[in-house]
Amino acid sequence: MRNLIALLALSLVTTAASASEAPSKTSKPAPEEATTAPARPSIKPNLKAAASSPAAAQRAEEEAEIDLSVRIAEKLAELRAKQAARAEAAARARKAAEARRRKEAAVVAAVAAAPKNGTHWTYEGEFGPANWANINSSWNKCSTGNRQSPIDLRDGMKVDLEQIAFDYHPSSFNEVDNGHTIQVTVAGGNFITVGNTTYELQQFHFHRPSEERINGKGTEMVVHMVHKSYDGKLAVLAVLLERGKANPMIQTVWNNLPLEKHQTVAPAIVLDVNEILPERRDYFTYMGSLTEPPCTEDVLWIVMKQPMQASPQQMALFSRLYPLNARPVQASNGRMIKESN
Ligand SMILES: [Zn+2]
Repeated sequence: MRNLIALLALSLVTTAASASEAPSKTSKPAPEEATTAPARPSIKPNLKAAASSPAAAQRAEEEAEIDLSVRIAEKLAELRAKQAARAEAAARARKAAEARRRKEAAVVAAVAAAPKNGTHWTYEGEFGPANWANINSSWNKCSTGNRQSPIDLRDGMKVDLEQIAFDYHPSSFNEVDNGHTIQVTVAGGNFITVGNTTYELQQFHFHRPSEERINGKGTEMVVHMVHKSYDGKLAVLAVLLERGKANPMIQTVWNNLPLEKHQTVAPAIVLDVNEILPERRDYFTYMGSLTEPPCTEDVLWIVMKQPMQASPQQMALFSRLYPLNARPVQASNGRMIKESN
C-alpha cells in the first residue's frame, strides 16, 4: 500500500515538474515531453484507477474484515453475556428449588418426629387400621408389632391342652356404646385359670364380623372377654357367634343399651357370663395383642373352637349400630398356635 502511495506521489511530482518546464520549452518540445504531456490529463483518471486498484480493494477488504471482526466480537460478547445471564438465572432457580425441597423435607421430618396424640380412630378410611400407628405415638405397635391380633388360626399344633377352669357367676354390670363397640363391664369375681395363672374378667364386647378366622373362615360376630391377672397380664377369650337361636345373655345386653353414645348405664339386674360359653371347651391359643389401639402385645389369646349362636334379630340389631368393627387379620409371623386335640 505504501509503495502504491509513493508511486502515485512520484508520478504527480513528475507531472508537475514537466508542466512548469513547458513554457520555456514550447518551441522545441522534447521528445520526452511528447511522452509526458499526454500523461497530464490522465492524473485524475490515474487517481480513480488507483482507488480501484487491487491494493485499494485489498485495503477495503481488510477494513471490511476488521469491521466484521469487530461486529462479530461484539455479537459474541453480547451472546456470551446473555448465556451467562441465563446460566446464572438457572443456577439461582436450582438453588431456590433445592432450598424449597430442604425446607419441605425439614417440615415433613418435624411432623414425623413430633409426638402425635390423636385419640380418634375408626375401622375404615383415614383413621382406619392401616393408619392407627400414625394417629398416636403410643400406638406404634399397631404398625411395628410382630405379635399382632387377630390372626387366621391354621396349622395349629394339636396337643392335649389343659382345661380352662371357669369361675363365672351372675354379676352386676354396666354397659356403654364407646363409639367402637358395645362394651359391658362386669363386677369383680369372675375368673378363668389357665397355665397356673388366674385372670379376672374385666369387660366383654362385640365385633362384627368376627376378627379371628379359623382356616380362613370367620363368623358373623364374636364376643371378646378381656381378663387381667393380678400382675397385669391380659388374657382375651373369644367366642365366635353364628346365626341360630337367641342368646339370653346377649338379649340382656341389648335390652339395656344406653340411648346415647359414651353414656354408661348400670341396670339394677345381674348378668350370667356362663350363658355365652359353649358346651365344648376345646380351644386355640397363641400370643397376640389387643385388636384396637394401642395394640398392646403380650396378650394370651384363647379362641373357643365351638361357636355360640345369636338370633338373626340379635345380629341385625348390632349391625345397625356397628355394621363393621373388625380389624383385618394380621401376619402370624411364624407364631406357634396350639389347639386342643
Ligand atoms: Zn375385641
